[in-house]
Amino acid sequence: VLDGNVLDGNAVSDRIREDLRESIDALDDAGVTPSLATVLMSTDPASETYVSMKQRACDDLNIDSVHRELDADAPAAELYDTIDDLNADPDVDGILVQMPVPDQVDKRRVLRSIDPAKDVDGFHPENVGRLVAGDPRFKPCTPHGIQRLLDAADVETEGAHAVVVGRSDIVGKPMANLLIQKAPDGNATVTVCHSRTEDLASMTRQADIVIAAAGYPELIDGSMIGDGAAVIDVGVNRVDADTEKGYELVGDVDFESAKGPADVITPVPGGVGPMTITMLLYNTVKAASQQADVSVEL
Ligand code: NDP
Repeated sequence: VLDGNVLDGNAVSDRIREDLRESIDALDDAGVTPSLATVLMSTDPASETYVSMKQRACDDLNIDSVHRELDADAPAAELYDTIDDLNADPDVDGILVQMPVPDQVDKRRVLRSIDPAKDVDGFHPENVGRLVAGDPRFKPCTPHGIQRLLDAADVETEGAHAVVVGRSDIVGKPMANLLIQKAPDGNATVTVCHSRTEDLASMTRQADIVIAAAGYPELIDGSMIGDGAAVIDVGVNRVDADTEKGYELVGDVDFESAKGPADVITPVPGGVGPMTITMLLYNTVKAASQQADVSVEL
């Protein structure tokens, strides 16, 4: 999974998907087929792409997927009703509402209304609470994927100083929470940085592990990385470029300069991205196993 110091997220993801196939086969033997419902209420091309990638990944692993698409200008009640239907549907194990939702929708109500047992994103307040309490039901997909990446590269979190750049509810906060847990893949000392942090460079330079999740292109360069650090780049930023599409995707880390001091570094694309989808599949299989009360190895 490492090519020099570059950690291949696709390779790590493929390994996990192979393991998942076995769990899915075991569920199949018990007459259970995991099923994920995706809900899209947006015409944003990036959201459409994410949803179709998730559906394709399900197909590939023989996870059933159902898709509900709502007009972006439909009344909010249509989305709330759709969620109620999916909550009540015994054939649906996991529900994912693609964010962002349009302005007329109360995003917090959406997160609260998904059945916590089907909340494969792990954003329901009950699941957030369980994570913070050290008893996670579903770990949010991106931070969970990052834990798996660190593990695959033999990066020790115990006793390490991890600097998380970003405090969003979907990446930064759950990442910091997982890293401080008293668990084999936790036990780190964690610093969380955000847009009001003074002197970001002095924070990141002290880190054994840098998790960059700011959504700001190439915010962190090699001068901000200490020798031997592990650098995980979550950022996916479109910047204008002389390409067919007129843009290219870059991370929050300036890969070329950070690659020098880092012991381990993830590229963009091909680092965290594939892991996020894989951990969504993982959570869907877990949801199916829990709901059918059939235990499988996960
Ligand atoms: P948000 O915009 O929700 O959060 C960004 C965080 O970074 C905020 O806490 C913000 O601070 C902080 N921040 C912004 N600019 C700076 C800065 N200059 N210095 C320090 N901190 C800063 O983003 P997300 O967490 O949703 O996503 C982060 C990035 O990761 C995005 O590029 C997104 O596309 C990508 N992403 C990739 C995924 C993948 O699978 N590869 C999955 C999810 C996200 P403040 O709170 O003060 O505003």
